[in-house]
Amino acid sequence: METETFVPLKGHCTCKTITYEVLAPFLCTNCCHCTWCQRETGTAFVLNSIIETSYFRITSETKPVLIDTLSASGDGQMIARCPKCYVALYSDYGDDGTWTTYVRAGTLDDEGKKRVRPDAHIFTSTKMDWVDLTGEKERGLPIFEASYKRKEAWGKEANERFNRLKEKMEAAKEAGGASKGKEEALPPSNINRETD
Ligand SMILES: [Zn+2]
Ligand SMILES: [Zn+2]
Repeated sequence: METETFVPLKGHCTCKTITYEVLAPFLCTNCCHCTWCQRETGTAFVLNSIIETSYFRITSETKPVLIDTLSASGDGQMIARCPKCYVALYSDYGDDGTWTTYVRAGTLDDEGKKRVRPDAHIFTSTKMDWVDLTGEKERGLPIFEASYKRKEAWGKEANERFNRLKEKMEAAKEAGGASKGKEEALPPSNINRETD
């Protein structure tokens, strides 16, 4: 698989207290034009690059702080911010919880940024008027007024990887007992995330 020869992507916050690495190609990079992302970033859209958390690691000694933040879906999200400059580096969203990491692609270093482009534009019904997606349409990108179904928007390999992740998520849930929530069934890589 492509992930074996993959040169890791690297990123950091503004003050470089937090540095991170991504060890496999992103499953998908969403360019989200929803009003929530506009507010959270203070700009026109966010670039959320999705990766299995087991392929994401914090490489700095200092770990980010996780800030419980409202989300449009109502499920909430944890935004990981540098404890010094408070730049947001990634989020954990919704059902997948900590199994997937939504990296804010603007925090990648210059080299990384060159390697990552949107794979889909979402919530374009609220995109700012001056954002022109003509070139993106020509590039053959899927453009959605709201959200999408993974199967429709993600590539074949990304869907296969996600299905494997889903199996692990379900197995962990079963092993943890039906009464346990996702916090108690964290993937092993989550040790990278401790904030103590
Ligand atoms: Zn910082
Ligand atoms: Zn959004």
